[in-house]
Amino acid sequence: MEAAREFLLKRLRQIGLHEVRLLDGGGEPAVYGEWMGAPGKPTLLVYGHYDVQPADPLERWHTPPFEPVEIGDRLYGRGTSDVKASTTIALEAVAAYLAVEAACPVNIKVFLEGEEETGSPSLRAIVARHGTLLQADAVLSADGGRASATLPTINVGARGNAQLEVRLQSAHKDLHSGRYGGGVRNALHEMARLVASLHDQDGNVAVKGFNAGAEPLSASQRADTASFAYDEQAFFSSVGAASHGEAGYTARERITLRPALDVNGLWGGYTGPGGKTIVPCEAFAKMTARVVAGQDPGDVIRAVLGHLRSRCPADCTLDVVALHEGSPASTLDPSHPLVQSAGSVLQRECGRAPIHVRLGASVPVTALFKETLGIDTLMFGFNLPDEDVHAPNEFFRLSSIDAGLRGWVLLLATLAEQPRERFHAGGRAAAKASQV
Ligand SMILES: [Zn+2]
Repeated sequence: MEAAREFLLKRLRQIGLHEVRLLDGGGEPAVYGEWMGAPGKPTLLVYGHYDVQPADPLERWHTPPFEPVEIGDRLYGRGTSDVKASTTIALEAVAAYLAVEAACPVNIKVFLEGEEETGSPSLRAIVARHGTLLQADAVLSADGGRASATLPTINVGARGNAQLEVRLQSAHKDLHSGRYGGGVRNALHEMARLVASLHDQDGNVAVKGFNAGAEPLSASQRADTASFAYDEQAFFSSVGAASHGEAGYTARERITLRPALDVNGLWGGYTGPGGKTIVPCEAFAKMTARVVAGQDPGDVIRAVLGHLRSRCPADCTLDVVALHEGSPASTLDPSHPLVQSAGSVLQRECGRAPIHVRLGASVPVTALFKETLGIDTLMFGFNLPDEDVHAPNEFFRLSSIDAGLRGWVLLLATLAEQPRERFHAGGRAAAKASQV
């Protein structure tokens, strides 16, 4: 981590950025540098991260994980795809402008996080301490790669999330099933009944208010989703599962554009080897909700809690062990200057209009920038889904470096033509709404 920071501090100074320094928030500091020589032009916060996942299991690597090794079109090494190559591409595009034209078409603030892989524990503190320094019109993220090597895509949003863990108690202590069995409630039976009531047998969420606020799918969202060709059969059969869920939506719509509720863990009683003749007195369940645009993650998870409480028998107690509101869904409108600029760059580079795709997963850093700085994020990374991130033999395609550098150089030039106020249309209001 220290070597990576030193390398970045040196390189940012070398390419001509100013105010190069570490931003501390109590954990691994972020690396910062800026070039503010384009008065009146938009200011873009370039986001990347310099931390990586552990390299183990080391015996599965064919090359040393912390030595870059080129084999054919691939550069192997831990962090190559996630996300050092895409971060380097962004920095070197800025470096090229400063070296060749002695100026960049937009103002740049580079912000490289050191805790992305550990859930960004001090990112909020860093942004709170250095909020003034980080003021910008939008974020360009080197993280969040391409969905396909052949089909240009723009990521226009991600689902948000919220978590709940509950404990159900039916007696003061575990009871002998010979002395009490058949005469008292069993905490596991009651918890199983509660959990089973969350969905109907077709997979529709049966919690009143769970879908509240969810914006109906627009015709263009449905068309975008349908135009991203993928093999649904292979998608499910590759993990040994079958398509199942809310009626009236395609599988891809269900996993990116509709809310979802999943029990992640369910336990209690005796689960060790052999048997134990008890009536267990307590049971636990962990669950997460994925929320979509228009929804408040706190309201959604409290609707789930209300559902469980209203069905919990009066002679049992249901306690909240943990409730995390998580982050709301993020959405970039198709008319947003980030989407339009990236669209024209990809159209020019790929010879066809990019498809707008959404992530089913959540990107907390995007939500945090929206909430704290009031600005939107465009993901413009160049890694591809098959590059074994977080796994042994991680690699990045060398051919993506060319595509990435061309893309970033064009993107910065295109964004320079956008009036600054266009980046904030609706942005502040949306940021405010997400805090309510
Ligand atoms: Zn990662």
